[in-house]
Amino acid sequence: MKECVFCKIIRGEIPSKKAYEDEQVLAFHDINPTAPIHVLVIPKEHITSLAEVKEEQLELIGYLHGVIRNVAQDLGLENGYRVVNNCGQDGGQAVQHLHFHLLGGRKMTWPAG
Ligand code: 5GP
Ligand code: ZN
Repeated sequence: MKECVFCKIIRGEIPSKKAYEDEQVLAFHDINPTAPIHVLVIPKEHITSLAEVKEEQLELIGYLHGVIRNVAQDLGLENGYRVVNNCGQDGGQAVQHLHFHLLGGRKMTWPAG
């Protein structure tokens, strides 16, 4: 999608620090990290949010979670990590391209704010 920030990152029009890339998925470091490791994992196909995922895209979403696991392993998060998806207005989603936050390198707290 032309004006989408994350689509621009996928196309290389906005630079990013990549952690992993293949034909379907891109993982890159968040510009404003909230943990020592804060990576965003996104499908290259523009999907607005988790609420917009279609049945035929569920395999991609499963695959993307395998990428999250692999990136966490590559980045040395052997003590664990948190995966977050902010969905829609009440979920606090700021960028309207589906993304999963991979957070690690510190002890996480609960409940979420
Ligand atoms: P959301 O609040 O939508 O779940 O998270 C969006 C995330 O994208 C935020 O953590 C924000 O820091 C990150 N972000 C927004 N614009 C950019 C960008 O241009 N580059 C990178 N690397 N991260 C971005
Ligand atoms: Zn997009």
